[in-house]
Amino acid sequence: MSKYTYLRIGGPADVVVFPRAIHEVQNVVRTAYEFGVPYTVLGNGSNILVRDRGVRGIVIMTRDLQRMRPCGNMVIAQAGVPVVALVRLAETQSLGGLEFACGIPGTVGGAVRMNAGAFGGQMSDVLSHVIICTRRGRLQKLSNSELGFKYRDSAMKDNDGIVVEATYKLSPSNKDALTAKIHEYTRHRKATQPLDYPSCGSVFKRPPGDFAGRLISACGLRGKRIGGAQVSTKHAGFIINVGAATASDYLRLIQLVQAEVQRQCGVELEPEIQIVGEDD
Ligand SMILES: Cc1cc2nc3c(=O)[nH]c(=O)nc-3n(C[C@H](O)[C@H](O)[C@H](O)COP(=O)(O)OP(=O)(O)OC[C@H]3O[C@@H](n4cnc5c(N)ncnc54)[C@H](O)[C@@H]3O)c2cc1C
Repeated sequence: MSKYTYLRIGGPADVVVFPRAIHEVQNVVRTAYEFGVPYTVLGNGSNILVRDRGVRGIVIMTRDLQRMRPCGNMVIAQAGVPVVALVRLAETQSLGGLEFACGIPGTVGGAVRMNAGAFGGQMSDVLSHVIICTRRGRLQKLSNSELGFKYRDSAMKDNDGIVVEATYKLSPSNKDALTAKIHEYTRHRKATQPLDYPSCGSVFKRPPGDFAGRLISACGLRGKRIGGAQVSTKHAGFIINVGAATASDYLRLIQLVQAEVQRQCGVELEPEIQIVGEDD
């Protein structure tokens, strides 16, 4: 799975499938259900740590579900559309609301599941509804309020549903203003994030009233390394793969950071990243 994750970490999967249409997702899920085989869905793998023993069952990669179209003030996108492409389409249509998401390296499906956000915006602010494929392979429409959105979280994780399509409700805006905002956010990311190394973005959720990066830094953990996993010196909220890191390196470093922040600051850091695969 190291080929399919942003972190370049992860043992083998039993089976990886790349559905190219929604009915193919349904077929895979129905077959998995019929034979009692577990499945895991992945978009761009930009918020995921796959354990070293890999993933049992089927990994469903949505990256080939690439259709997207504007429709009045809406944009409708299939799950595998990169968030950056979604933002670009909205910009070219002079539709505002999604600028915050420029530079988030995930897919539409992963961004809905994670309620991805930045610069004061998040997916739940602009999402109208989604179509999900249920664990029995049926399609179901869920409105924004039915998705149980929270900070960097949604109820999707509890129901095995796969987002296959999302519809965003946007507002007509001035294109030059949108472009300027996107450039400003992109500049900020480049200046503050370690984009030269594999990572999965911020490893921890933001604790109430503070920032994980600030606490980690205050604990003297910038640059702390276990094997090939290192707390970034540029942004302490990121743990990067500086060379051949294993999931075990990464997990041990997460635990060390959590223990040290708890000990020195009394704050419990909750991982934002999703950890999947067979336990050691
Ligand atoms: C450099 C960098 C910067 C980042 N910046 C940000 C940021 O500013 N804000 C932010 O919120 N995140 C950020 N992230 C994290 C990540 O990009 C987002 O969480 C993104 O939304 C994940 O999308 P993905 O397609 O890569 O999902 P994946 O990593 O593939 O999966 C994440 C979770 O979503 C589930 N999932 C994936 N697709 C679907 C689907 N179709 N249906 C149901 N569940 C699904 C997976 O099972 C998993 O639980 C960053 C990551 C990196 C590497």
